[in-house]
Amino acid sequence: MKKRIVVFPGDGIGPEVTEQARRVLEKTAELGGLKLDIQEFPIGGASIDAYGVPLKEEYLKAAKRADAVLLGAVGGPKWDVVEPSIRPEKALLALRRKLKTYANLRPAKPYPALLQASTLKPEVISSVDILVVRELTGGIYFGKPRGIKDDKKGYNTLVYWRHEIERIARRAFDLAMLRKKHVTSVDKANILETSMFWRKIVKEVAAGYPGVKLDHMYVDNCAMQIIRNPSQFDVILTDNMFGDILSDEASMLTGSLGMLPSASMGDKKGLFEPIHGSAPDIAGKGIANPIATIASVAMMFDYAFSMVELSDMIENAIRKVLDDGLRTKDIYDGTGRLVSTSEMGEEILKRMG
Ligand code: NAD
Repeated sequence: MKKRIVVFPGDGIGPEVTEQARRVLEKTAELGGLKLDIQEFPIGGASIDAYGVPLKEEYLKAAKRADAVLLGAVGGPKWDVVEPSIRPEKALLALRRKLKTYANLRPAKPYPALLQASTLKPEVISSVDILVVRELTGGIYFGKPRGIKDDKKGYNTLVYWRHEIERIARRAFDLAMLRKKHVTSVDKANILETSMFWRKIVKEVAAGYPGVKLDHMYVDNCAMQIIRNPSQFDVILTDNMFGDILSDEASMLTGSLGMLPSASMGDKKGLFEPIHGSAPDIAGKGIANPIATIASVAMMFDYAFSMVELSDMIENAIRKVLDDGLRTKDIYDGTGRLVSTSEMGEEILKRMG
């Protein structure tokens, strides 16, 4: 079997962390007897510098043809001054739109060796295993009309179509079937008609999954419950804006931004990237944590290729490296061994297979 993968290293620490993730990707494929066809292209600021646009059309087409896309991060102060229509972030939106990745999956599960790295008490987070399933291509971020009128009002539109709610709900229930079979659908149905409709459709979809428990929760309560008792959650299903906020909140249960992967899935294609940005403050110093990007490769094997054993192999190597006390600067607390970005990649490679 052969898989076509497009890698976009991007800006800042993006190239540093994707280099390590690519090594893990290649080794995993080798151990799993999988052939890879990997193409690497500039995106974001790097592409603006080279071609004057954040993403060339031909590279977007290559991403569309690929089985999976791995992305580092885009942006940085150097490009904050460019014209808004060609800002680095435009490349991300174009990719999501073209790949039709409507489901953003963000797991938040602390590694036992890092329980002390969270701002919450270890006993509160030790059994946390949350998967946030966020609708990514609809809702208020895309609704029209939108704008600012005569310096007098600003407005956006929150719209959800039945098919958009059905497909993200089905994705959440399918994933819950593979986990603890519990979906918490988060909305604001006491105020918003869109949320009332969301709740109705989610209930309809739930009827097809009698083995999965469904709860509904208002978003304000959910924000509080994630801090109060995060282990009550299994799958959190929610819309674009609520998911944006709640998934960042849930991610902090696990400590460092440098640890957290994500997958954005369409029906077939997937875009895999760390949740962090390009971290210009530490770029080029060799101290960035590559684990979020390496764990994104683990998600690729699981969600895009359904090769769970290979995904587990990467996850186990990450767990071992942390158990053995290796730490990049962001998770170093004075104990264990401080390692660079490339050393962390190397040590994970050694623990695979
Ligand atoms: P950031 O995530 O880049 O950095 C926030 C903080 O976390 C910084 O102190 C950084 O050093 C640290 N950090 C992040 N990743 C780390 C890692 N792997 N290892 C160690 N420390 C890490 O967020 P920001 O500073 O708000 O944004 C910087 C740039 O990244 C901006 O241009 C922003 O637009 C862009 N950005 C891009 C994406 C993306 O490409 N998906 C996401 C978020 C931000």
